[in-house]
Amino acid sequence: MPTSTGKKLREIYDNLYASFGPQHWWPADDSFEVIVGAILTQNTSWKNVEKAIRNLKERKFLSPQGLKSITETELAALIRPSGYYNQKAKKLKGFVKFFFNDCGGDLKAMSAEELYPLRERLLGVKGIGPETADSILLYALEKPIFVVDTYTYRLCSRHNLVAEDASYEQIQNMFMDNLPADVQLFNEFHALIVRLGHLYCRRTPGCDTCPLKGF
Ligand code: SF4
Repeated sequence: MPTSTGKKLREIYDNLYASFGPQHWWPADDSFEVIVGAILTQNTSWKNVEKAIRNLKERKFLSPQGLKSITETELAALIRPSGYYNQKAKKLKGFVKFFFNDCGGDLKAMSAEELYPLRERLLGVKGIGPETADSILLYALEKPIFVVDTYTYRLCSRHNLVAEDASYEQIQNMFMDNLPADVQLFNEFHALIVRLGHLYCRRTPGCDTCPLKGF
């Protein structure tokens, strides 16, 4: 029996899906590219990430082995379009070190690990916070975990689904306690919320024309 919050979340999901259609996330050729994109997308637009990914692909560095072999300085130069490139080069290098040392350099083995212990280990990698870790877990490794970002916070606080000072975990729990643990649902729902945030639920909300007007 769905809770009243669960019912409301479903209605929001159905409305967004009917308005925007499937979002086909995550746009990438393979799971490793998703991980790289999840790190590069911190504090920048997806357009800039695409340029950085293109540079890595053209130089054939977009693979675990490629990112292991490249120097941090060379890497920073290639991912420059994504902004904060020195920090992001360090983060990518940190992830790759973790990937080889702790996961045997094997994505299949990594995705076979238990969700929450793996999440804890990912959060131990410098530069990987909850949103990046959860994006990797959901979109690259297909684990049932809900990704929270600024757009999610705005939607939930503006519609009184969470308190204004709700933490990342409180927002994530609100979704996960009230929806089935369904990878496809979590994948699509987060992508739809991002679309909503780009088009309507901005810093200044455009409620008049928003599909969620009336909720
Ligand atoms: S823009 Fe307005 S109606 Fe739309 S989700 Fe944001 S607060 Fe709700």
